[in-house]
Amino acid sequence: MNPRVFIGLGANLGDAPTTLRAAVDALAAQPDLADVRCSSLYRTPAWGREDQPDFINAVATCTTVMAPAALLARLLEIERGFGRERSLEARWGPRTLDLDLLLYGDRSIASPELTVPHPYLHARAFVLVPLLELAPDAVIPGIGSAAAALARVDRGGIEALR
Ligand code: ATP
Ligand code: CA
Ligand code: CA
Repeated sequence: MNPRVFIGLGANLGDAPTTLRAAVDALAAQPDLADVRCSSLYRTPAWGREDQPDFINAVATCTTVMAPAALLARLLEIERGFGRERSLEARWGPRTLDLDLLLYGDRSIASPELTVPHPYLHARAFVLVPLLELAPDAVIPGIGSAAAALARVDRGGIEALR
């Protein structure tokens, strides 16, 4: 069976809900990704740098025949297609679209370009809440259950969009 992967989506510039829905459509249109599903969209307070607009966040899941590095390259290509220009940004600042590779099956990967599980996954309620909506039993390799990780962080201010 092909591995199941989880992808974090975030945006806080422009019409973020529309961007996230279009990004999920772009994932679903990739021939090498299958069974693409997405969580609800959530409005979440900015993390890391608080002097910026709220984010819209979601998590998508799919199965894939792509190797992790190739999948990350595809995600960065989709970000660019939505106008992301990383060279003009501050770290953790506003962006039109951010796609993070959160989990790739049960693999742990540490290369210069790619760390899986995503290094902050277990510390970010804005990722854990939508992840758990899709996969209540999700396990973060090296950390443990995602539900237990969520219980250790502040989940204040995160609201599902209606
Ligand atoms: P954070 O990773 O803390 O959420 P960010 O999403 O703002 O921060 P970016 O500027 O989008 O960071 O990404 C910087 C680089 O991180 C990317 O070019 C990519 O090579 C690298 N990276 C390493 N691991 C991952 C991962 N699991 N998912 C996405 N990018 C990753
Ligand atoms: Ca990110
Ligand atoms: Ca990113």
